[in-house]
Amino acid sequence: MNILIFGPNGSGKGTQGALVKKKYNLDHIESGAIFRKHIGGGTELGLKAKEYIDKGELVPDDITIPMVLEVLQSSDAEGWLLDGFPRSIVQAEKLWEALQKDGVKLDYVIEILLPREVAKNRIMGRRLCANDPNHPNNKFIDAIKPDGDKCRVCGGDLTERADDQDEGAINKRHDIYYDDKTGTLAGAYFYKDLAAKEGFKYIELNGEGTIDSIKETLISQLD
Ligand code: AMP
Repeated sequence: MNILIFGPNGSGKGTQGALVKKKYNLDHIESGAIFRKHIGGGTELGLKAKEYIDKGELVPDDITIPMVLEVLQSSDAEGWLLDGFPRSIVQAEKLWEALQKDGVKLDYVIEILLPREVAKNRIMGRRLCANDPNHPNNKFIDAIKPDGDKCRVCGGDLTERADDQDEGAINKRHDIYYDDKTGTLAGAYFYKDLAAKEGFKYIELNGEGTIDSIKETLISQLD
């Protein structure tokens, strides 16, 4: 089972991705995490990539594409869930070429749809509980609204993640994601156009529901 997942920052892509990964026992291949591993290990690739990542820019294709394809090709799990790649039309085409060349079948492409303003509010509304980072709190999501300025689960103090409050950085990331000419959405639509002809399923999920309702819709569409 091989799956691509698309969704803007703030869409719950990580949560839904984890669910799919568990259901099919997949190797979760996340381009951002691969970069972070390289940076942590102090590799040459990591040093180069860091310059771009720190600025919120895409790492150039001559570094990113071979790196991700190599990890995909060396995966020995029952399948993979590719997350964070492709992020542009060029990456989408190169990935498709590589899959064709290696005779690898794609089963699902998932796109989580969320209007840009909603995605931005969600990121800016996130609050972290001092007692447990897994306690969900978000000022802009009714189902998990904090209790005043305290954690809705345990009453603990809440803090903000610095990068969540950086509007410029959020806008930059969303500029890339919502660009349907050459950016990430263009990459997603490249697969949407291929789906029927090539025999894989393109699943569009409305990201405005609750985590549970999105989960249920997603599960009902997977085999
Ligand atoms: P993420 O964890 O997916 O938000 O990725 C963190 C950073 O890694 C991004 O802001 C980019 O700088 C870089 N990155 C991740 N995936 C890609 C990709 N497919 N193409 C280029 N840069 C990427």
